[in-house]
Amino acid sequence: MRIHLVNPSSVSFGTAVITPRWLYVLAGATPRAFGDPIITDETLEQIDPQQVQAGDAVGIGIHTANALRGYELGRMAKARGAHVIFGGIHATLYPQEARDLGSADAVVLGDGDMVWPQVLTDCSRGKCQPTYAGGRIEGDQFVAARWELVPRERYMWASVQTVRGCPKHCSFCSVWRTDGQRPRQRTTDAVIEEIVQLRRLGFRYIALADDNFYPVTLTDLELARRNGHTARLAELETLRRERFELMARLAQLPHDMGFFTQITMEAAEDPEFLDAMREGQIKGALVGVEAVTPQGLKDVYKDFNKAGEDLVERLQTFRRHGVYVLGSFIFGLPSDSPETFEATAAVADRAGLAFAQFVMLTPFPGTVDYDRWEKKLGDHPQEIAGVPITRRWLIPQEHRPKLYWPHPTMSADEIRERTQQVWDKFYQWGAIWKRSNFIHARSGRVAFLLISRIYRHMYADTGIATDSARVAWSARWTRWMAKPCRLLFAGKPMADLQVPRLEEARPAGQRLETAPDTGD
Ligand code: SF4
Repeated sequence: MRIHLVNPSSVSFGTAVITPRWLYVLAGATPRAFGDPIITDETLEQIDPQQVQAGDAVGIGIHTANALRGYELGRMAKARGAHVIFGGIHATLYPQEARDLGSADAVVLGDGDMVWPQVLTDCSRGKCQPTYAGGRIEGDQFVAARWELVPRERYMWASVQTVRGCPKHCSFCSVWRTDGQRPRQRTTDAVIEEIVQLRRLGFRYIALADDNFYPVTLTDLELARRNGHTARLAELETLRRERFELMARLAQLPHDMGFFTQITMEAAEDPEFLDAMREGQIKGALVGVEAVTPQGLKDVYKDFNKAGEDLVERLQTFRRHGVYVLGSFIFGLPSDSPETFEATAAVADRAGLAFAQFVMLTPFPGTVDYDRWEKKLGDHPQEIAGVPITRRWLIPQEHRPKLYWPHPTMSADEIRERTQQVWDKFYQWGAIWKRSNFIHARSGRVAFLLISRIYRHMYADTGIATDSARVAWSARWTRWMAKPCRLLFAGKPMADLQVPRLEEARPAGQRLETAPDTGD
């Protein structure tokens, strides 16, 4: 029985920005007795169906955006006589859909790391179960990825996970409901060993693919202290100490490396943490800004964020400490008006963001917003191409609406057009070049320019544009540019690189004299 792991995508670019980590984690969880899995990432190229033979096991991981393609692959694999296993966040939420539409023999719910060997053993004995409960495993059980299987020349960045779960409860996000609100932190040793393995292969840039890299805020600590919750306080302090330990060890790695993560804006209140990030070579972070007005933040249950001038100041704080921000904004909130688009673009500019993304409010399964939306539409929601709009991911791409949430004052087209205009303005060549002035090296500025344009083409033009010529041009442009751009991120393999020892890591605070590294 051969094992296939497939990351579905209906668009392939030949080169991708970030490695889909789950493929290599499940490869790590595959018992060696089954041999090396055959890995296909369709963001690079489509699977060749001839590769799948009767009796093989095909693992397909899906999220909502690629579920439809995933089901197509499941049916193909089943027709060729393979065992079909679905996993991932969408399959966890809709296991029956994976069976009905994707011909799943088995569905893994939750984390696949520990349960995957059992699934394969059962399949090999012809005793595959319909459901496997992977649950939420602890941080010290996360399986390390098998990076030696990655086609190094196809990806710009690698990805490593350090923590799962997020204590917040934003209404548009499913992370806190699926991965839980209790942060499950991985051991520092395991994280560093994986990163060293990646640098040996020549990866210099690594995304820390975490739900929230800052799981304990100063406010959390203060509240636990004030309320006399001794056990809770000790737990929070341990989590925080381990974060600092990780960052101190990242600082020991070769200085041509860079890391990128996701974090909440509250980290701006914590200069010690930001300094440790900078020293740990965490050069960038995605920060969910979402809205620039207090009402907009209330709309998404994110009133722990700041608005107006306080928001600009907070975002600038990251930059002052040497951490550059990719700000994420949502358009189409009930309180948005035509002025919101201009105001948001102005904040993105004044706050000194390095990158920004502007997404349209979309109800994702597993979120509070989605539940509210589904309930509001009742038992007989509108259908498009024979599919209820509440199962929007099953609507063929060409018929799929761009906006699902009726807005009180603006039409869907108006919101889409204005969103596109904000992307266009933010990613004009001149505007990007100006933004790149924090980078000293000319090659670094060129890399910034190219990655900005690739980012915009991958996510804006192919995501919200309705003009098919524009979408096709964007896909072609990205395909041409991604390959040379990858070289800007690659490093010479360091085959002899050793794992730095914990005792050699200087505690945070002893390294604060280091100037921000902005030259790369
Ligand atoms: S959006 Fe970010 S902060 Fe909010 S729940 Fe999701 S991961 Fe946590």
